[in-house]
Amino acid sequence: MTDISLKILDMECAACVSRLDRILSRLPGISDVRINFTASNAAITYDERQTDLASISAQIKKAGFRVPIEEQDLLLQEAGPVPEEIVSGLRNVPGVKDVSVGQDGILTVFLWPVGTDARALVQACADMDLVVTPGEARGGDEDQAIEKQMGLLKTLVESAALTSLLMLELHPKVQFVIGTALQFGPGKHFYKGALRDLRNRSFGMDTLLSLSSSLIYLYSSHTALTRKQNFTLYFGSDGVLLSLILFGKYMEQVAAGEANSAIRKLLHLQPKTAMVLSDGAYVETPVENIRQKDLVLVRTGERIPADGTVVEGNGAVDESMITGESLPVDKQPGDRVIGGSLCRSGSLTVEAEGLGKDSLLQQIVATVQRAQCEKAPVEKYADRVAGWFVPAVIGTAASTFLLWYKVLSPGDLEKALLACCDVLSVACPCALGLATPTALMVSSSTAAENGILFSSGRFLENAYLADTVLFDKTGTLTKGAPEVTDVVPSDGGLEDELVRLCASAEVLSDHPIAKAIAEYAAARFPDFLPEPAERFETFPGLGIRCEIAGQQILCGNRALLRENGVLIAPQSDLSPASGTEIWVAAEGRILGRIDVADTLKPETREAVHRLKQAGKEVWLVTGDNESTARSIASEAGIEHVAWSVLPTEKAELIRRLKAEGKTICMIGDGINDTPALADADCSIAMGSGSDIAIESAGILLPSGDLKKLPDVFALSAETMKTVHQNLRWALFYNGISIPVAAAGLLHPSICAASMSLSSIGVLLHSLRLQKFGRKKERDPS
Ligand code: ADP
Ligand code: MG
Repeated sequence: MTDISLKILDMECAACVSRLDRILSRLPGISDVRINFTASNAAITYDERQTDLASISAQIKKAGFRVPIEEQDLLLQEAGPVPEEIVSGLRNVPGVKDVSVGQDGILTVFLWPVGTDARALVQACADMDLVVTPGEARGGDEDQAIEKQMGLLKTLVESAALTSLLMLELHPKVQFVIGTALQFGPGKHFYKGALRDLRNRSFGMDTLLSLSSSLIYLYSSHTALTRKQNFTLYFGSDGVLLSLILFGKYMEQVAAGEANSAIRKLLHLQPKTAMVLSDGAYVETPVENIRQKDLVLVRTGERIPADGTVVEGNGAVDESMITGESLPVDKQPGDRVIGGSLCRSGSLTVEAEGLGKDSLLQQIVATVQRAQCEKAPVEKYADRVAGWFVPAVIGTAASTFLLWYKVLSPGDLEKALLACCDVLSVACPCALGLATPTALMVSSSTAAENGILFSSGRFLENAYLADTVLFDKTGTLTKGAPEVTDVVPSDGGLEDELVRLCASAEVLSDHPIAKAIAEYAAARFPDFLPEPAERFETFPGLGIRCEIAGQQILCGNRALLRENGVLIAPQSDLSPASGTEIWVAAEGRILGRIDVADTLKPETREAVHRLKQAGKEVWLVTGDNESTARSIASEAGIEHVAWSVLPTEKAELIRRLKAEGKTICMIGDGINDTPALADADCSIAMGSGSDIAIESAGILLPSGDLKKLPDVFALSAETMKTVHQNLRWALFYNGISIPVAAAGLLHPSICAASMSLSSIGVLLHSLRLQKFGRKKERDPS
C-alpha cells in the first residue's frame, strides 16, 4: 500500500469534491481517498500492484480536473552524455513521471505533484554514482496558486470591460454582439464547470449560473433580433451577474490562500543553503545536499537547516514555530535542535540527523495537511446537504417559472423568465460547501502556529466535548526530569555497589527515571562505565529486568519484585521513601532502594485550576505508588487519583469511565501511554523539545506546556461554534433569498451580488478564527 498526497487543480466547489471522491473511490486498487478542497489536494491510499499514479491521474483528468506536473532541474557536475541506466533509474524513483536529458548538462525531471523533494532525486543519482546539484524547480504550489489567480483575474477584467460597454445602451444588434462575446468569452469559465458537472452528474454552482445566464442571454438575443419596439434587453444584467460571480470567486481564492498561509509559512522556515563542513572547511551547500552526520555551522540570525545535535558552541535558539513559545532556548553541546528554528545569538555547530521528509518540520506540515484532508463528521453531513441542494434549486426555479407564466401573470414570458433566473443565481451552494472545511482549515493552521497540532479534524470537532480529563504523571504533570533524592542500601549492602549495578541496568532504558539514575551515577563516579548487561527487558509501568555478570537484576517498583517472586520483608532498617521508590534486587536478594522525585511543572497548578473552572473533572492516573501519587495530586490540586495503574489498566479505567457516560480526554507523554491514548475519546500527547511522537495522539503539544490545554478546548469549541454559525447562515441565507427571488422582487445583479457576498461572508467569518492566537498574545490570561 502506498500513501500519497496528490495536488489536484480546478476543484471549484464542494460538489466537485464529492464527485471526485466518488470517482476515485470506485477505481480498482484505491482503498482510501480523502480530499481537501481548500488545500487542493487528495490523500490517496492505493495498492501499487493494481494501479499507479499515471492511471489515477488519467482518471482525474477524465473527470475534468488537472494534476499539475512539476519540474525539477538537476545540474550535472560535468556536461556530457548521461548513461541510459541512470535515466531509467531515476524514472523508478517514486513520484517521478519522466526524465529528459538536456544539451547543457541539465537533467529535467518531471514529477507528479506528490511532494517528492529534490533531496530524493539527488540521493538517487548519488546511489548511481552520479553527482548532481538541484537546480530550478518549476510549477510548485505557489506558481500554481498565482497562475490560477491571474487567470481568474484576467477573465474578471474582460468580463467587467464588456459589461461596462453594455451599460452604454447601444443599438440592440451591437448589444447582441457584445453580449455574445461576453457569454462565450468570460462566460466560458462557467460553461466549462457546468459541463464537468454534467459529465459527472453532480451539480454545483457553475450549473446554476450557466443555466441562469444562458436563459437571460437567449431571451435577450431573441428580443434583440426579432422585436422592433417596446422591449428591454438584459445583456447588461447578464454581464453584471457574470462579473460579480467572477469577482466573488477571485476573492474566495485570495481568502482561501490566506487560510492556508500558516502551512506555507512553516515550509518557508527551511533555509535554502547551509554551511557544511567538507574537507576541513565550511562550504555553502544547498540543503538538499546535506547528508546524515554532516557538521553544519549556524551563525547568529541564521536558521538551523536540519534536526540534529549541537556538538560545539552555544547560543539561544528561537523554536517558537514548533512550540509556539517565543522565549529563546539556550543550547549547548549535546542539546537537540530543530530544523527551521532561528539562532538568535551565538553560533552552533550541529550534527545533522533529521533531513528532508524525516525532519520534524516536514512531519508537522504533513500532519497538519493530512488532518485537513480528513473529513470531520460534521463535514460529511454538510457535503450530503450540498449534494441535493442544486437539484432542489433547479426544481424550485422551474416551478417559479411555471407559477409566474401560468398563474401569476399568464403569458408574460419576460417576468417568468427573470424570476426563474433570479432563483438560479441567488441560490448559493458554495456557502454551504465552504462552511465547514474553511473553519476547520483556518483553526488547524492557527493552532499549528500556536504550538498545538491537531492530527485530524475529528479532534478539533470533539475535543471540547470532553468533560473528564485524565493526566498521566511523569512528563505530563511533572517535568519528566526526576532526580535521585536518596540511596538506601539494605543491611550490610554497599551504597556504591547498589548505584553502579542499578545504573548499569538503567542506561538501557529510556524511561525518565532510568535517565535520572544513570545521570546520578555519572555525577557520583566520574569514571563510571556501565557493566555490560544482557537479556534486557522492559515491563511498562513496573520496571526493568536484565542480566549482569550472570546475575539476574531487577529494578522497579514493588509490583515488579512481587511478579518476579522477590518479597520485600517489612524492613525495619529502611527509612520511609522520600518519593518514587526504585527497588533493586540481584538473584532474588534485595540490595536496596533508590528514591527519585520529580517536580511539578511550574504551570501545572494553574492549568488544572483553569480546567476545573471550565467544569472538567480532573484525574491523575499513574503507575507510581500511592504516596507519591497522592502528594503530587494534592500539590497540583487534583482530587481524583488512581495509582499503581499499569499502562494497559489505564485503558481499562478509561473504558470504565466511558461506560459511566463520561467523555474522556487523556493527556500523556506518548511514551508508554499509547493504549490509553488510543482508547480515550480525545487524546493529547505532550512533547518536550524535539522528542515528539507525532503519531501517538490526536492532538500534540510539542512544547509540553500545560498552559496550552485550556486553549485546546477553547479553540475546539470556538471552531465548532464557527462551523455551526456558518451552516446556519448558509441555510438562513438560502431560505430567505430563494423565496424573495422567486417572488420576482430582486434585480438579477442584486441576486449575483448577494450570492457572492454570502460565500465570501462564510470565508471571512472562518478567517476570524485566526484572531484566536493573536488575542492570546495580547492578553495572556
Ligand atoms: P507514570 O504513570 O507516572 O507515567 P510509568 O507508568 O511510566 O509512570 O511507570 C510507573 C512506575 O513503574 C514508576 O513509578 C516506576 O516505579 C516503575 N518503572 C517504570 N519504568 C522503570 C524503569 N526503567 N526503572 C525503574 N522503574 C521503572
Ligand atoms: Mg508515563
